[in-house]
Amino acid sequence: MKKLFWVFLVIISCSISYGENFLLTTYIVNEPGSPLAIVVPQNISSNYFVKVSFDTNLIFKFYHVFGQSVSIIPTPVLYGKSNLNIYVYKDNKEVFSTNVVLEYVGKKRKVFKLNLTETSKNILKDSKRIEEDRKYLLHTITSSTPVYFYPSELKPFILPSTNNITSPFGLLRKYSNGKINYHKGVDFSFTPDDNVYAANDGIVLVSSNFVANGKSVYIYHGLGIITSYFHLDEVYVKEGDYVKRGLVIGKIGETGIVTGRHLHFGVYIYGSNGYVAVDPISSIKFFNEIISGKSVVKKGENLGKRYE
Ligand SMILES: [Zn+2]
Repeated sequence: MKKLFWVFLVIISCSISYGENFLLTTYIVNEPGSPLAIVVPQNISSNYFVKVSFDTNLIFKFYHVFGQSVSIIPTPVLYGKSNLNIYVYKDNKEVFSTNVVLEYVGKKRKVFKLNLTETSKNILKDSKRIEEDRKYLLHTITSSTPVYFYPSELKPFILPSTNNITSPFGLLRKYSNGKINYHKGVDFSFTPDDNVYAANDGIVLVSSNFVANGKSVYIYHGLGIITSYFHLDEVYVKEGDYVKRGLVIGKIGETGIVTGRHLHFGVYIYGSNGYVAVDPISSIKFFNEIISGKSVVKKGENLGKRYE
């Protein structure tokens, strides 16, 4: 895998606070798509929620973790410099806002051409079915994600495959129809172990066959975290199943639009009206820090001071 020299800078430029003591926790890595978290060092009510400037339709809830309230939020995958405004609401009234500057510095982004199989090139032409699938998926996930679900025990996330990663998150790829899109997950090779493991305990939201993503599984893990597994050959779980971390949920295959047999693994942050893909590798490290306890507040930068 070619090493990419991206630098991910997070600069906190201003903050305003109107009540609770808010902390912004950042996970700084050299890849785009790393999540952030807003942390309140006490349990706050479900009246609080977070919005982000790149899609104000999304609503990110707070979850209680070890006496703190944590809202994990995604960052947009944009190349160059961008501003991310983060707003905290209570009962639909804005009570806190902060601004984060995201900047990817480094080599000019290269666009990788995908060498799709002939079958995949034909599937890609069926844009109507691909769009229907996208709408069905959005509807299924936003209407069935049980945000009240909280795992009985917070366990660290694991990767769904022990095989090598063949394609990282965020790569710009050109399809045979000329469209350029960034890679919304990581790909694993299919050897030596073709098992696909659930990344954590959770509820199966979707287990279906899609034209572009092939046989796919989506699992909700609580805390607003969803994982997805695409292009499977066989699937052993159905919608509504409660799965334990490490359970074999399927076999690596080449269903859907592919360049060959592999597992595509995605991680999404759920925002009530939708969900945003984040870098699975850096996200899992970040989630595991949150799940392991106290490190979040220690690492967080205090942005807000209480005043009356
Ligand atoms: Zn992929």
